[in-house]
Formats: sequence, structure tokens, C-alpha cells
Amino acid sequence: MPIYKKSGIKGSRNYKPLDNNVDYGTRQIDQMPIACCDPRSPYGGQFGERTLRACERVTSLCLSACKAIFVGDVSAGKSSLVNRFCHDVFDRNYNRTIGVDFEVEKFLVLAHAFNLQICDTAGYERFRCTSESYYRNANAVVVVFDLTNAESLRNAERWLDEALQLNRPEILRFLVGTKRDLLVSTPHNQIENEAKQMAREMKAEFWSVSAESGENVTKFFRRLTALSFDTTVQRLLGSNNPISHPSGNSLLNLYYLKEDRKIKKSKKCSFCRIN
Ligand code: GDP
Repeated sequence: MPIYKKSGIKGSRNYKPLDNNVDYGTRQIDQMPIACCDPRSPYGGQFGERTLRACERVTSLCLSACKAIFVGDVSAGKSSLVNRFCHDVFDRNYNRTIGVDFEVEKFLVLAHAFNLQICDTAGYERFRCTSESYYRNANAVVVVFDLTNAESLRNAERWLDEALQLNRPEILRFLVGTKRDLLVSTPHNQIENEAKQMAREMKAEFWSVSAESGENVTKFFRRLTALSFDTTVQRLLGSNNPISHPSGNSLLNLYYLKEDRKIKKSKKCSFCRIN
């Protein structure tokens, strides 16, 4: 987490992250990334006004973690997608995921530290057979299918339904086709068009990626993170008690650092005052 220092302007409440040797690189997000594979995405192209205002006014807003669950058929390419983004590697040898794999990626969104927790699930078992608790309270569900395997696309809705049984219906939804590199010599528009149609029905945003070449992988994760951040902040702003959010993600905690004394004395946070 970055350390914050007060900006040089006297009386200013703006805090800027100190250079604490954390190079966020592609993990730094200052504008909402575009949904480059899906012009008809159900999600917006900008951060919400309230999010922007909150990020400007609150000196240090730390959302400890947001959870994204990756589901889909065995061998669809879930682990490869996660590994390409988190470790920039691609392994041709198939290593079956046992249970659930976790990754945590650090981001800096609108100058606020934000962690994305990635749960990569084993597609050969259904949610009920494994630990349901891993799948609860997710902020986003990523349904992964193999662009070379139409059966895996047909199963996508079933995977979404299972995720929805354990999560709020307003969870962010993505339908991600992998192995795009294998489609170069085949008419891949057909399966992509079918997938876009299915994404409409699932109220999801469609992406076409390749873990092998890395195409669209970083763009996808940046978009996932930015939308997760936006919806999380907006939900907390809408709740009566943003400091401990009772109904949503139990991982989420909101801290207010270095707020002015007046607010501390009255035991109110400036966040509550934002309209
Ligand atoms: P999972 O069971 O859904 O986690 O699937 P994996 O990520 O383990 O991938 C299954 C197989 O597909 C492995 O042999 C991968 O090397 C291969 N694979 C995954 N993604 C891609 C991709 O984008 N391109 C190609 N060519 N192969 C891929």
C-alpha cells in the first residue's frame, strides 16, 4: 500500500502517494479502460461522477480487496489467463487446477490503492462440491470459454447461473473467450458473434483474448479492476455505514486516514457527507 503525504499547498487536503518504490506500471489506472471487444457492453465507459468526487475528496481510501471468480469448463484456459496477467508466463503443459487457486494483484486506481483478489476455480467440479465459501461475496464473475470449443460456450450460462446462486445478481459479469491465437486461420467471427449474442443474454461484457500471445489480457484485467473499483466505491457510498459494510463483501473495509480533527471528534467521516 502506498504511503501518503500531504501536498505542498497550504491548507490543501490533497494527498499524493509517496514514491515508495512501487512501480504500478500497467496496474495504475487513471481513466476507465475501454471495452475494446464489446461496443454494446452493459457497463459504462467512464468512472461514475460520485466515484471521481469521492476519490478526490477522501484523502486515503483503502479498499482492502475485491474478489473476482474465474469459472468455466475444464481446460477452457482460466489458469493460463490468470498466469499470463499475474506472472506474464504461458505454459503449454496442462496443469489441472485442484480446488481453487488464489492470486492478489495490487493496483492504483484514481490514486487509491486497490487489490484484486483472483479466485481461479477448478472447472471439473461444481460449486456445491467444493468450498462454496470461496465463491461467495464476489464482486465480479468471469465466465471463461475456449474459442475453439463451441461446447464450452454453450456451458457458459450454466456457469453464470451457478455463480449467481451464491452472489448478488448485480455482480459484474464478463464472458471471456480464450485461445484467440488459434483462430487466425479459421473463420472465428462466427463463434465470436455467437458469444457476443450470449453475452447480451447473460448481461455480461464480452472479451476475446489469448494467454499465449497476451492479446487483450492486460486490457481485460484493467477493465475488470476499474469496474470493480467503481461499483465498490459506489456501493459503499450508498450504504448507511460505509466503514463496515454489512451486506456485501466481508473482505471490504474502508479506512479514513488523516481526516480533519473536527470530523474525528464528531465520529463522522467525510465520506458520509459526499452526495
Ligand atoms: P483451465 O483448466 O481452464 O485452467 O485451463 P488451462 O489454463 O490449464 O489451459 C488448458 C490448456 O489450454 C493448456 O494446455 C494451455 O496451454 C492451453 N491454453 C490456454 N490458453 C491458451 C491460449 O490462449 N492459447 C493457446 N494456444 N493455448 C492455450
